[in-house]
Amino acid sequence: MHLAATRVPQSKIPEGAFDAEYMMELEDMEDQPIRVLFGLTIEQFPLSDKLTSEQLTLMATEFKQLWAAYRFIPNFPEGLPTRRRYELMREYLDQGCSYWLGYTQDFEFCSYEPNDCPYGKEFCRCKDFEDDELLEMNATNTLNEELPF
Ligand SMILES: [Zn+2]
Repeated sequence: MHLAATRVPQSKIPEGAFDAEYMMELEDMEDQPIRVLFGLTIEQFPLSDKLTSEQLTLMATEFKQLWAAYRFIPNFPEGLPTRRRYELMREYLDQGCSYWLGYTQDFEFCSYEPNDCPYGKEFCRCKDFEDDELLEMNATNTLNEELPF
């Protein structure tokens, strides 16, 4: 299990200058699962109940660094337990994702439906939103891309 963490590929991201052609290329790219992007398989990440709390902490930390290497920022609520953070990032390996090389992407896991919120009721932030804000959030979907236009 430590192996998966040491196999984390290093970021190949160049600090991007704006290039219109390159932007078109990115737009044309198909979405692909994050695990393909990372060159990892979900089997490399044990289920959280197979890990000790030290291993969990290590994995969650490595995982977050891996995300950061790709400039993916998971938006976790404050105080969300390590186990849940690890599980969310693990499950997210199968998610399709358009990768904007060189740009920071924020990921919001919350579905804004408190009853099946992946953060769990205790940590869900959706219940704090009023209805009109809720609609707005749903419209922008779960993936916020920071784009230069
Ligand atoms: Zn929520």
